[in-house]
Amino acid sequence: MILDVRDLHHSFGEINAINKLSFSIKHNSIVSILGPSGCGKTTLIRLIAGLEEIQKGQISFEGKLVANEKFNTPPEQRSISYVFQDFALFPHMNVKENISFAASTKVNKKQLIEQVIQLAKVENFLDKYPHALSGGEQQRVALARSIAVQPRLLLLDEPFSDLDTNLKKEIIDDTLHLINSLDSSAIVVTHNAEEAMFLSNVIIVMEKGRIVQIGKPREIYFNPSNVYVASLFGEVNIFKTKILNNKCETPLGILDTKDFKDNQQVNVVVRPEAIKLNVEKSPLTSPNSGVVVDSKFLGNSAMIHMTVNDSNNKKHHIHSKLIGEFLPAPASSVSFSLDLNHVFIFPR
Ligand code: ATP
Repeated sequence: MILDVRDLHHSFGEINAINKLSFSIKHNSIVSILGPSGCGKTTLIRLIAGLEEIQKGQISFEGKLVANEKFNTPPEQRSISYVFQDFALFPHMNVKENISFAASTKVNKKQLIEQVIQLAKVENFLDKYPHALSGGEQQRVALARSIAVQPRLLLLDEPFSDLDTNLKKEIIDDTLHLINSLDSSAIVVTHNAEEAMFLSNVIIVMEKGRIVQIGKPREIYFNPSNVYVASLFGEVNIFKTKILNNKCETPLGILDTKDFKDNQQVNVVVRPEAIKLNVEKSPLTSPNSGVVVDSKFLGNSAMIHMTVNDSNNKKHHIHSKLIGEFLPAPASSVSFSLDLNHVFIFPR
């Protein structure tokens, strides 16, 4: 294990920023921490880096205890480097000096500096000072500097948020290869689920200071542990209903269930991509049908807004997402079927 976090708890006055949090990270892995604003991601990273003293719990690094309630190994003695949202570059040093300073104690200093300059694509502004750089440029310098330390563990707090889409993909890709080639591990904080899936072998999902799920990207996507995790990958249809005889009724049909008792209140989450549509020539009265309200072109997919009547004739507004240019006109009649891989039932 490169990192082991046990029973961590951290409050700011009344606010429980981190709540009984435990996890460990294997050597040579890249782990994403995914969660909404204010769920405690930065606080956790600051505790791991040693920038915040532990109130309760403990952190071990490569099998050695580095911090608990009684002591705190200083950040510079942890072989951990970090990039925070505010970059914290040295203002009196230009870009090259910022990077060189970080690599100053390394044997392969010259080669390493050249390598990280190339990786972070900062060669065009090596002589500039931080105040004269854009947010995205500062972010790239901060990334270069953190890698130049050759840390055992790299902590990246939203490191790619200020970059435009194409540059972001390129730099994420290069960063991943470099982390792998350096025999390092990394924890990357993000609130973008796609980025987390692209970046990491393991995703830790946080909500309100707690871990709600840890797993491989595929597990998180296909076996989400609650409504929040299921909604991370885009908007979802949610139906509030209850269980009767191992079944529950939704506007999209009656679903078989297991592991629930009668009368259990549940949320049924249906991803838009679960709903497959067919345009019908004439209006249908069958249960599995609806009427299109609008169709939106999204590039490689289309979002269809439709109304569906439930068994009590109550109307529901439902979103279906289909790959390709499927754009039925408003007022078209459609029939639908469900791909149950994208349907989840959670107790309420
Ligand atoms: P974001 O994605 O917006 O950066 P986050 O998930 O990183 O959010 P944290 O910055 O860790 O969240 O904050 C967790 C909670 O602790 C929030 O409610 C925040 O307001 C509070 N908090 C964080 N730092 C402090 C502080 N120094 N003093 C008081 N409250 C704080």
